[in-house]
Amino acid sequence: MIKFLDLKKINESYESDFQEKLKSVLENSWYILGKETETFENAFAEYCNSKYCIGVGNGFDALVLIFKGYIQLGKLQKGDEVIVPANTFVASILAILEAGLIPVLIEPKLETYNINPDLILEKITSKTKAILVVHLYGQLAEMNQIHAIAVQNNLVVIEDAAQAHGAISNQKSAIKNKQSSVAYSFYPGKNLGALGDGGAITTNDPELAKVLFSLRNYGCQKKYHNEFVGVNSRLDELQAAFLNLKLPNLNEDNQKRREVARRYLTEIKNNKIILPFWDFSHNHVFHLFVIRTENRNELQNYLLENGIQTMIHYPIPPHKQKAFLHWNDLFFPITEKIHNEVLSLPMSPALTNDEVSFVVEILNQY
Ligand SMILES: *Cc1c(COP(=O)(O)O)cnc(C)c1O
Repeated sequence: MIKFLDLKKINESYESDFQEKLKSVLENSWYILGKETETFENAFAEYCNSKYCIGVGNGFDALVLIFKGYIQLGKLQKGDEVIVPANTFVASILAILEAGLIPVLIEPKLETYNINPDLILEKITSKTKAILVVHLYGQLAEMNQIHAIAVQNNLVVIEDAAQAHGAISNQKSAIKNKQSSVAYSFYPGKNLGALGDGGAITTNDPELAKVLFSLRNYGCQKKYHNEFVGVNSRLDELQAAFLNLKLPNLNEDNQKRREVARRYLTEIKNNKIILPFWDFSHNHVFHLFVIRTENRNELQNYLLENGIQTMIHYPIPPHKQKAFLHWNDLFFPITEKIHNEVLSLPMSPALTNDEVSFVVEILNQY
């Protein structure tokens, strides 16, 4: 069976190093906000070409805390509208709501699956104060155009890079110098995954960073002195220690993912399958390799019968979820088409050449 993502294989390759780290964390007996977290924050900030990195409990909290940080700084207010792609993992939208803000959904481009910048302007009202961009499946959204819209309309830009570790730092354009804040998740299956929950925020904004270091820890920098109404969302020492071991391999892992993607893109030849569009001007770290096909269930079953596991990211669009009853009647045809047709092929740095060849062969025979 070719797994969609063989996490066991990926993490087993670190096993003896993990055990050493566990020993050293036990030895130091310091479990929350210590040296490992600080080391990781510094290393990840550098990796992302960012001045600050704040380790937090998970990717969802990273997003919520960015919004709360901007609210604390007076740049956003409860009830403000935030532009967000209709085609995203639901966490992006939940984070906006959790911070007391109002999500405004925008259709994606069918080719890239990412937000269509041409549709943003018509949705901007006097209450629109921010854009939450999602770099879905690991492909950077069209940030130059989005930043231009943001500057013209005085909007804060926040990036959900939970699927795009490494895509932003490698970008050669001016993006990294812009003042956006970026949320990362280290959920085990992400391109940089912990052995449990974890997340981080990167930013170049010193005021925001200061607030965030405090907000994640009950709103205090100095113990028992609460400056802000904060939360408890910290990156564990043990998870930070594991991430410190994995971060040095992230670029190589992403390169392996791109090589798998390149093979899929050049070798899969079947007119029932629409391959993802890879715009080479936008960095792509292939968190997922997502194809489209009209009869998705049939293709998924066929692959499974041939020993190939696939997944669907995602089967139900946010606006059709029961949790958002008031949106259920909205019509986003491109988002809905994507949710009906997408299928994620096996993708990981641990896939062997033979495994990729087998997936290609089976798909070409379909
Ligand atoms: C995984 C993910 C999140 C949430 O991250 P968690 O660490 O699971 O909270 C947010 N947005 C996107 C796009 C994701 O893929």
